Amino acid sequence: MEITEFATLFTIQSLDRAIGEAKQQITTQEKRIQALNGQIEFKRDELSEINTKFTVQKQELQQAERELVAVELKLAKSREHLTASTGQAMADAAEREASQLSNKQQDLEQQVLAGMENIENLQIEISTTQEFIAGATISSQEIASDVATEIERENGVINGLQERIENNLEELSPSLQEIFKSINKKYRFKRPLAVVEEGCCSECGMGVSESLRAKVNQGSTLELCGACGRILAPHPEKTFKPAH
Ligand SMILES: [Zn+2]
Repeated sequence: MEITEFATLFTIQSLDRAIGEAKQQITTQEKRIQALNGQIEFKRDELSEINTKFTVQKQELQQAERELVAVELKLAKSREHLTASTGQAMADAAEREASQLSNKQQDLEQQVLAGMENIENLQIEISTTQEFIAGATISSQEIASDVATEIERENGVINGLQERIENNLEELSPSLQEIFKSINKKYRFKRPLAVVEEGCCSECGMGVSESLRAKVNQGSTLELCGACGRILAPHPEKTFKPAH
């Protein structure tokens, strides 16, 4: 194990971390579009509910209107009977009927008015919701193209970083490459390299024995943390060399 190989490992770790950040960016972008599409979907469901309500209300209104016409006809007839009635008993009966019908007429008139108001409100709600959906759909298309550009850019960044990682990996001995790859599989974006800090593994906090610490500081052998299995590297200042 060469001390410079630790520097290479640190370089790979930070390049890989940058990949993690780029992946985060992609997720953020994808969420932007998902949130808006979710909103559109929600409004579409809402619109379909309002439309159903509108149909029901309209049928009820038409029904009330028909009943009103019928009651008005009956009332007119009843008034005719009243005028034509000969005898008190007949007049009383006609009067009673006319009064009942007149009450019914008033109820129906109120029902029709309320129904018309409901319908009007539902129409406003329908057009507001339709406008929202139309606007949001246009925004969604614009954002989608924005998001696609951003994601493409981030993927370019990731490919560049990946290439640099490959180049750095080639500088390591084949056995070290294998070990690093397998440890990085477990700790990708969570630092596969640890240093000894105040006698402990900097990542998991497990104590490192005096003898192991001495070996780690020497940097001529590959030592792993007995607890988390990360590579215990000498402090980066000791192994520093410019990244490439
Ligand atoms: Zn550890």
